[in-house]
Amino acid sequence: MFKQLHPASIEFSSMLTHLPISQDDRLADMLSRNKEWAKKVQSEQPRFFTTSAKGQSPKILWIGCSDSRVPAEQIVQCAPGDLFVHRNIANLCPHTDMNCLSVLQYAVDVLQVEHIIVCGHYGCGGVQAATANQFYGLIDSWLCNIKDVYRANREHLEAVEDITSRQELLVELNVSNTVHNICHSPVVQGAWERKQKLSVHAWCYGLEDGLIRELGLVISEQEEVEAVYKMAVMEKTVSTKASETH
Ligand SMILES: [Zn+2]
Repeated sequence: MFKQLHPASIEFSSMLTHLPISQDDRLADMLSRNKEWAKKVQSEQPRFFTTSAKGQSPKILWIGCSDSRVPAEQIVQCAPGDLFVHRNIANLCPHTDMNCLSVLQYAVDVLQVEHIIVCGHYGCGGVQAATANQFYGLIDSWLCNIKDVYRANREHLEAVEDITSRQELLVELNVSNTVHNICHSPVVQGAWERKQKLSVHAWCYGLEDGLIRELGLVISEQEEVEAVYKMAVMEKTVSTKASETH
């Protein structure tokens, strides 16, 4: 027996019939390939879906770019269940982005991931747009985070004359900035305070050769964070001790 369709589902399915045929074909093709994939996995690993449905315990959080050419699991050959993934334009983690910070908190506090990988990519459209001096609309506020990275490193960047090389350097600096933002968050500092094992890594993917470069930046403890950013956790410790005296 089929479940009775919710009225909204009926309305939605009738809307689909008005989509261009080419788009319908693409979606139908995706659903068809999904059936093939599920059948193949079921035959090769009969317990896969039963185990998967019971829960997840990935030990790595991946923060990458939304770019369709940088699919996290595919480029590092990971299976479903291996990575907890967050992707946005130009792999940012602004201090006020509740979306990224919620992913971060869940990954660190609940899943207890041991590694956070920030993976940017050369040729990033988000990074290029941030330096293009054009008006794009709402996204300009998001791109301002990258402009801030440019401003903080302007002399270093403008010493590089070749524009492509300068863009690549900005891509790397932007990845580093995200790594630092993550390490400055109360979530990560709290984990280190609890002696939870957690390292944050800077990686960069090359669209032209499919290879990932380690950028030489790995932060694994609070000692490696600049003093000014340690204040929140120190204050928390002090206030906890203060409350114990009452
Ligand atoms: Zn990108």
